[in-house]
Amino acid sequence: MRNMLPLPQLLAELVRRPSVNPMGRTDIPADILYESRVTDFLEARLRDLGVAVRRQTVRPGRDNLVATYTPPHPAPFSVMFEAHQDTVPVDEMIVEPFGAKVEGGKLYGRGSCDVKAGGAVMLAAFARLVKEKPAGSAAVTLAYTVDEEHTFLGIQELMKSGVRADYAIVAEPTLLNIVNAHKGVVRWVLETQGRACHSSRPENGVNAIYRMARLVSAVEEYAAQVRALPADPVLGPRTISVGRITGGVSANTVPDVCRVDVDRRLIPGETAESGAAHLSEFLKGRGFDFPFTLTQLHAACPPLDPALSGELVSRLGATINSVVGKHTVHPVPFGTDASTVANAGVPVVVFGPGDIAQAHTKDEWIDLSQLEPAVPGNASLLLAEYQINHPAPADVNLLRIAAVRQDVGAVTPGILQRIGEDRHAVERPLVVDALRQRENRGRAPRRIERHGAERVPEDVAEKFGVAFAMDLIVPTLHEEARHGFF
Ligand SMILES: [Zn+2]
Repeated sequence: MRNMLPLPQLLAELVRRPSVNPMGRTDIPADILYESRVTDFLEARLRDLGVAVRRQTVRPGRDNLVATYTPPHPAPFSVMFEAHQDTVPVDEMIVEPFGAKVEGGKLYGRGSCDVKAGGAVMLAAFARLVKEKPAGSAAVTLAYTVDEEHTFLGIQELMKSGVRADYAIVAEPTLLNIVNAHKGVVRWVLETQGRACHSSRPENGVNAIYRMARLVSAVEEYAAQVRALPADPVLGPRTISVGRITGGVSANTVPDVCRVDVDRRLIPGETAESGAAHLSEFLKGRGFDFPFTLTQLHAACPPLDPALSGELVSRLGATINSVVGKHTVHPVPFGTDASTVANAGVPVVVFGPGDIAQAHTKDEWIDLSQLEPAVPGNASLLLAEYQINHPAPADVNLLRIAAVRQDVGAVTPGILQRIGEDRHAVERPLVVDALRQRENRGRAPRRIERHGAERVPEDVAEKFGVAFAMDLIVPTLHEEARHGFF
């Protein structure tokens, strides 16, 4: 096993390897485009560690990397660390984007803050675990994904491939605080058609821009209505905004097509599909005498609901406090890979060194004091502490999470195994309490629609005669109901 580079050098090596996401543009030079240079470098470092590592091709030349550490002892819990490999483009930067210059305690360059520092810190913490194999540590999956800055393809592929853990931490600059919630975003193109003709006889054509003007006015009205709908207590109101309009070729041609880009911010409980249906219904209700289309632009980023991550927030928070002394837990206005992880049923928070204020800027930098091994508050130390000292939550907490969500997706094989070991560890009052809390939040328990979606591991199935996760959970809840606990 080769020694890992010291963190500042590791970060410099990552910054020197361009991994620009074109974000829909076609004018980015090939020698800085896409993530492969960073992927190759990280893969080599992980192979140096002697751990299992695999590539997951997301698009030609764009691979996720997944490495796993399995401790020699039974792991009390599993955790996934995830960071994206891509950066935004480098136009108009006033520092050398790939120079990794260090000055005044700062390292400059594209991606230094967002999020190569976070990725480097995770690698250092992972390497330390592999090397020292401390007793009681977690099983850790370290994942580096592509395309976070544009359409979230990498994280979607990762979760689709079945990668799971009891908990997950997604790297983004949070100044070593915990981010547990954000809105989702979906973008649509609204399009009207017309019939082109010479503008000297406009009556012979159909003006697509006039049609769009009426639609846009309706969207403006709709924006006020959407804003007035019940807001999320943490994240605030739903919003919608028209950001760009295109149409027409010249002043002397009646335009045959007009498009607008619409940006809709989603709150927990909403999906891209429900948002689209709501808007379509509103527009149809206006009775326009012409057709129009609403098309989703690319994959949506779902909202990050804090409901699932309470346990993780308090455990990681305790670790941060023990090292740094304090931290905050707060929502952010921007989207991250975390919500896709949460949608797969894995409790997740966002955490990392650096300040989001420096992300995507013309002189992007990171304060190296958050990386120096000698500094007690360094992020790598925090993650290492977390993966070693986070005690496995009691079965009842895990079951409570599943009960609150009433969702088989929340039941990972790790949870099942622990419940399977001692089914009687389930304490009735806590489960009941969780359901009451859920009611108090104004959400009636949902019907379990995904019943049977997750197969139970064979040994557990044999022990309890059940085939699916919810078969194991639901009878317990039904039993409570029969006994009048709720
Ligand atoms: Zn980022």
